[in-house]
Amino acid sequence: MSAGTLYLCATPIGNLEDITIRVLRILKEVNLIAAEDTRRTRKLLSYYDIHTPLTSFHRHNYRKKGVYILNLLLEGQSVALVSDAGLPGIADPGEEMVLLAVAHDIPVVPVPGPNAALAALVASGLPAKYFCFEGFLPSKARARQERLRQLQTEGRTLIFYEAPHRLPETLADMLVFFKNRKIVVARELTKLHEEIWRGTIVQAVTYFDPVKTRGEFTLVVAGSTEPDSTVFGTVKISEPAVEKNILGQVRQLEDKGLAKQEAIRQVARQYNLSRREVYALVIQAKNGRKVEK
Ligand code: SAM
Repeated sequence: MSAGTLYLCATPIGNLEDITIRVLRILKEVNLIAAEDTRRTRKLLSYYDIHTPLTSFHRHNYRKKGVYILNLLLEGQSVALVSDAGLPGIADPGEEMVLLAVAHDIPVVPVPGPNAALAALVASGLPAKYFCFEGFLPSKARARQERLRQLQTEGRTLIFYEAPHRLPETLADMLVFFKNRKIVVARELTKLHEEIWRGTIVQAVTYFDPVKTRGEFTLVVAGSTEPDSTVFGTVKISEPAVEKNILGQVRQLEDKGLAKQEAIRQVARQYNLSRREVYALVIQAKNGRKVEK
């Protein structure tokens, strides 16, 4: 018996009209659709009146589910893989399913379409001829800072995915390692509240409020133009945007229930500052010294 085919079907990153005719046909024809987020995919399928059986395939079940899907493919069934949005295999476990299929000589067919990284890049106004896709930075501060340090001398335009709750920390870290380069923050692409914000990293730190930031974000950052951009030095605490961000993050940690001292300790560590420096800033702000908004 010949094996079935694994189709990698791109789905909209927001606007449901961003789907190809071929993807719609394949989603109708396959035996099974394996979706990263079944709720989101069900909405798409019902919009297009598609009734193909659906199963979940995400980062918490991809090992077990991968074997299940592999067996169906080996039996000759065809499966369409879709991620929660965009092209499966980019910053999601789709890659694992492809590795498994390739290892078992199963035909893998890409059915291209929307992708957040490329949509953000082409609209950014930053050089798009050469670029470097980084996906999500590590969530742990130390690992994230190490990755940014490694990227300091990268001359190509850099693209990152980021979750809204981590955006302030990421921008603060980028300020340390990339200094005040140009950045484009592509928010909610193809959706009602689409925003393509262009500015510098310092301006972004000020603009994106640590508390109110919502939505899906792709960051496009100018590559290094410095011959030796590793010699950037440390961030100056006197920078108003940095002050505002430091205070915002202390407040955010306190809101989560951390004691002031612990919040100060964590933020100081993140910025490579002493606790005393951050404490002084908090006290100054409390005593009414103007911190620029
Ligand atoms: N496979 C997807 C693709 O091809 O674009 C990416 C999946 S990744 C798990 C999800 C991340 O993509 C989000 O956290 C966000 O950073 C970015 N993203 C997805 N949709 C977006 C949108 N509409 N606007 C901006 N960024 C988006």
